[in-house]
Amino acid sequence: MNDIPVTMRAAVCDAPGVPLVMREVPVPTPGPGQYLVKLEACGICHSDLHVQLGEEPMPPEAFPLILGHEGIGRIVAGQGPLALGTRIGLPWLYDTCQSCTPCLTGQETYCQSQRARGLDAFGAFAEYALVETAFATEIPDTIDPVTGGPLLCAGLTAWSALERCAVRAGQRLLIVGAGGLGQYALAIARARGLRVAVVDLDPAKRAQALAHGAEIAVPPEAVAQITAWGGADITLNFAPSPKVWEMIAACANPLSQIVAVALVHDPVPLSMMWLINGGHKVMGSSVGTRAELRAYLNFAARHLPPVEIEALPFDQVQAGLERLARGAVRGRLVLRF
Ligand SMILES: [Zn+2]
Ligand SMILES: [Zn+2]
Repeated sequence: MNDIPVTMRAAVCDAPGVPLVMREVPVPTPGPGQYLVKLEACGICHSDLHVQLGEEPMPPEAFPLILGHEGIGRIVAGQGPLALGTRIGLPWLYDTCQSCTPCLTGQETYCQSQRARGLDAFGAFAEYALVETAFATEIPDTIDPVTGGPLLCAGLTAWSALERCAVRAGQRLLIVGAGGLGQYALAIARARGLRVAVVDLDPAKRAQALAHGAEIAVPPEAVAQITAWGGADITLNFAPSPKVWEMIAACANPLSQIVAVALVHDPVPLSMMWLINGGHKVMGSSVGTRAELRAYLNFAARHLPPVEIEALPFDQVQAGLERLARGAVRGRLVLRF
């Protein structure tokens, strides 16, 4: 405990829409059922950007706030089942009520009382952060903290979306949107023996998808090419646009499973006759549970996803968010502490 300082550097979001400011703030003290973690790395996610830009409906009293929910660090204080020094993850899910139906049936990401890290609780853009002991997930030693950060959100979200589906090797999967989440999904799908088509507007992302095992990679208007390839038995949508849903419906094989992941606020053009005649299943999916995170980290430790990771020093966090806003990131950005 002696080497824990009184204050730490944190990137603080004082109000929606203003840049993050590096500031000295008190190191939090772990209460009962909490660990204090010294951060080693934290990924920068689009959700952080939405909060920083004020695009997330949040009460004014939520600020000042520390963002960041792809953190990895070591336990330095607090009592729980894990020993001091254990490397754990700081994902989006901060905690849940642990008593509602979703919580009691292993579907805690649909708990309506859940708190999110970097939204309802202080996040990991800081040298130290608190973790509820019940929500601490150990990070396998073979996973490097910088490479591992984005597994906790982008990777887990892709994993959990496919877990919502009944998957058989040889089925045809359509991945819509080949950014970070799409790239993690492609790696998971290939390892599970699925045949993959990728849709993205960006030719560079399409080329990258082909290099990593997609059979075809086309722009959204190329519906005929996808149906000629064999159509989609499963579709994962990572593109935050209502427009892509017309293409998704047109590419779906009978009895297809479709998972909505990208946040789309406006209604989408899906016909109930298409749904009924095709017997399709359309599902929503939001990040992933603790059990899914453990399973996914175990998988990722053996099949390291070929996603481009760029490490930045911690004090570059605001510059990183601005690059994300400009679309000037090929894979994922991760802060190194
Ligand atoms: Zn995220
Ligand atoms: Zn609950």
